[in-house]
Amino acid sequence: MGSNNFRSELVGSFSEGSNGNPTVAMIEAAFRHHGLNWRYINCEVTPENLSDAVKGARAMGWRGFNCSIPHKVTVIPHLDGLGESATIMGAVNCAVNRDGKFIGENTDGKGFLKSLLEVVDPKGKTVVMFGAGGAARAIGVELALAGAKSLTVVNRSASRGEPLVKLLNEKTKTPASLVVWPKNYAVPEGTDIVVNATSIGLGDGNAALDIDVNSLKPGMVVADVIVDPPSTKLTRDAKAQGCTVIDGLGMLINQGVIGVKYWTGIDADPAVMRKKLVEIFE
Ligand code: NDP
Repeated sequence: MGSNNFRSELVGSFSEGSNGNPTVAMIEAAFRHHGLNWRYINCEVTPENLSDAVKGARAMGWRGFNCSIPHKVTVIPHLDGLGESATIMGAVNCAVNRDGKFIGENTDGKGFLKSLLEVVDPKGKTVVMFGAGGAARAIGVELALAGAKSLTVVNRSASRGEPLVKLLNEKTKTPASLVVWPKNYAVPEGTDIVVNATSIGLGDGNAALDIDVNSLKPGMVVADVIVDPPSTKLTRDAKAQGCTVIDGLGMLINQGVIGVKYWTGIDADPAVMRKKLVEIFE
């Protein structure tokens, strides 16, 4: 494959709805920038057609694909194997064609970790993470695998918080505990890294987490997963408190960088991908 210059290599995305479109623009920008004759195609796939979609990707020799909700768990039986973190999470958002076999990886948490590593190594660090959904699960597992000292999950519902804490305690070496989100939660002194992995802020740059903003201290790293809009109330408050801030674009861009590396072997330039996303979201 790839010996014929006229041939395009294909990767794609299986999603319901068009929420993969910013990713399409970002990945295609990277392909163009690096002179790769590759295409990234967003395909709307319903749950009942997922099996056929994966068969189609195999038949067409796709080099891999992303998959988003609702396919992240149900895609697993259609794959040939899983990477370490995807095994622990039980969720896949990126399949990679390795020697004709589709191997499932999870780049959600890896993308977050890569953007975090640009400012701090979580090894030995104390983490407070808001949220216990899919993004939180991916981030929590990667932070634990990266050697975080402890992880406090703060979540509105115990019903989602408890299984995440159980999973972290049973499958990683990082001790995790649950705080069912009280009013005006104060981030404990000594916390190194604060993560918003809830959907609060999505589509509303003024939506606030119910926290005591004064408990955010200089020296803390505060990261938000929200990409739309990239400037959230949390990131602005944290900046005003003197914290180091990471926006959600970093996670999305680095997921793209990791995906492109898995599929093509190339280290994509994140600046090109950020530029494209900023055009879309701002
Ligand atoms: P889920 O629906 O799986 O989880 C949502 C989480 O947010 C739950 O913990 C939920 O708590 C919490 N939550 C939602 N609303 C409130 C509220 N008003 N008050 C308190 N808690 C609330 O979503 P995902 O985990 O899949 O996604 C979360 C966010 O992460 C989304 O906005 C998504 O866009 C973003 N994301 C960003 C990525 C990036 O690359 N930057 C990648 C993936 C996701 P409860 O359990 O109580 O319902």
